[in-house]
Amino acid sequence: MMSLETQLHEEMLAMYYNVGREIGYWAHRYLQRVRKVGGLQAAKDWLKPTSSPTRGLQRLAAVNRLDLSLEVFVLQEPWSSLFTKEELQVARQRINLISGGQLAEEVSTASDSNLLEGAVHKVTINAYERNPEARRRCLEKHGYSCFACKFNFKDYYGETAEGFIHVHHIIPLSEIKQEYTVDPINDLCPVCANCHAVIHLGGVTRTIEEVKAMIKANLEKRQSKIISEVSQGSDSI
Ligand SMILES: [Zn+2]
Ligand SMILES: [Zn+2]
Repeated sequence: MMSLETQLHEEMLAMYYNVGREIGYWAHRYLQRVRKVGGLQAAKDWLKPTSSPTRGLQRLAAVNRLDLSLEVFVLQEPWSSLFTKEELQVARQRINLISGGQLAEEVSTASDSNLLEGAVHKVTINAYERNPEARRRCLEKHGYSCFACKFNFKDYYGETAEGFIHVHHIIPLSEIKQEYTVDPINDLCPVCANCHAVIHLGGVTRTIEEVKAMIKANLEKRQSKIISEVSQGSDSI
């Protein structure tokens, strides 16, 4: 099992490739630095109040992909536990500054994940949900239909949507101990984009069973409403 620090190091190496692949920016100096001093030390150096933001941050902001930045990364659990309050504050301030300032005041007191969603305008998925190998093994076992509502993108939209599905990590990050390796079969499950949004709606993590129960209860309500509408309609005939 890898220590959290080693996991962070691996994630930071992966970040170099992700950014390169996704936006064509290959931050060679970043990679050299991470390899030379280790991910944690490199990140801490970059998060000193006196050091200037990495050039990568500006590039990422320009293409609206702050979600790929070191600053957003370190604010996420479980990585945030490896950094000091001051270092996290530097990361938060840079994200606020570069994403337009509007959210600076109101969100600075909110939880980090809320801040991230505000800053990058998208649902932040965690590192386990992003891990391509874990995802592959999860889907190989569980298939491509939503665990909560059974929605299947290919069945509904056709060939174009084949293979599309979110992967949800069912263990709340707050419960994860430092020594943890994701189990792709038991800790991850396929969910459609709608159910995934509902699972995390309001900043909590609902269980698949809870979302299933929500869908079922609401379906029964809708059905009884339809039945009563139909029967009222037949009364008036
Ligand atoms: Zn679903
Ligand atoms: Zn999720």
